[in-house]
Amino acid sequence: MKSIPLSTRWEHNFLENQLLALTRKLSECEKWEGQIKDHLREIEKISISLFGRKGSDPLPAVSMVDEEVNVRLFERCTELVSSLQRAVRLIETDPDSYGICEKCEREIGLKRLAASPWAPFCIKCQREIDEQKLGLTG
Ligand SMILES: [Zn+2]
Repeated sequence: MKSIPLSTRWEHNFLENQLLALTRKLSECEKWEGQIKDHLREIEKISISLFGRKGSDPLPAVSMVDEEVNVRLFERCTELVSSLQRAVRLIETDPDSYGICEKCEREIGLKRLAASPWAPFCIKCQREIDEQKLGLTG
């Protein structure tokens, strides 16, 4: 593991623990990404052999739902991976900026950081973002 530069805001121990949690979560994510990809390939294979689907034919309804769910899962996974990588980079290069909300630039609560070491936003901003997302998709 890379060494963490000294921070005026954080105890070294705290950053080390966060980094450890982030690295663990990252390898977990990569594992899931691989499994979801395999599953998507599997859906493709099944729909070809079971329903004689050719390249451009639409997927059968059952597989379509399954595919949609998995594609969404995969997107969420990718999002999480980039948040994780971003947090790791911050700790390794600019630990004083770690734990600062990207939107309002206030400090993210310690409880939140302990529960989600990759959180880019404080609870208030995260809620606003989630509500906007919900509003957009109905
Ligand atoms: Zn904020």
